[in-house]
Amino acid sequence: MRDGALDLLWGGACVGCGRPGRLVCPACLAALPVGAAPAWPTPTPDGLAEPWAAAAYDGTVRAMVLGLKERGLLRLGGPLSRLLAAAVCADLPPGGPVVLVPVPSRPATVRARGHDPTRAITAGAARLLAARGFDVEVRRPLRQRRRVLDQAGLDAAGRASNLAGSMRASERAVRRSGLRRRHASVVVCDDVLTTGSTAREAQRALEEAGLVVVRVATVAATRRHGGVLTTPVLRSS
Ligand SMILES: [Zn+2]
Repeated sequence: MRDGALDLLWGGACVGCGRPGRLVCPACLAALPVGAAPAWPTPTPDGLAEPWAAAAYDGTVRAMVLGLKERGLLRLGGPLSRLLAAAVCADLPPGGPVVLVPVPSRPATVRARGHDPTRAITAGAARLLAARGFDVEVRRPLRQRRRVLDQAGLDAAGRASNLAGSMRASERAVRRSGLRRRHASVVVCDDVLTTGSTAREAQRALEEAGLVVVRVATVAATRRHGGVLTTPVLRSS
């Protein structure tokens, strides 16, 4: 019922302004940010690699993230990949190959949705960056080691303890990738940065496997005031 109502509202209309036609109309597309900026969460998880985000998690960007993630509007993957690519490459120090590692989604969530948005936009960002001449690839060595609870409704401390030790990097995947030998710069990729605890856990697992994580890149970051999230917390991916 709810989905049907949303389809009536959103079907064939811009997710940003509701104008009939494309999923993102030319005006909303032109208004999307083109750069990226550091987006430190408050509080910041200890040792978190510098997090970069292309946008605040509100308005059109939030509607795009939710449209892809919750409604399977796959065509939103294109503009979202562009935003993620900006967060990956903005002010990135020159160095060896850049390797994008998407935060792993919960297998049950991927099955329920029938697609993996984070994986898709990470691959899209890599294609865009490769076209711009970056030495870039996507690797997916991270696995969920144990079940984690849905993150919705958990505060920063709750999220951190829910996730601590929940991921591991597959030694086989890391060895076959040659990433350690090639001194690759690893960028952890996700759609939205909220407390930073998911990215921090991914970083921890990659570093445990001997990899060098140089930054966290996300499409968007939530604005936080006094530790209270001012936008609804997404379900974990
Ligand atoms: Zn629009």
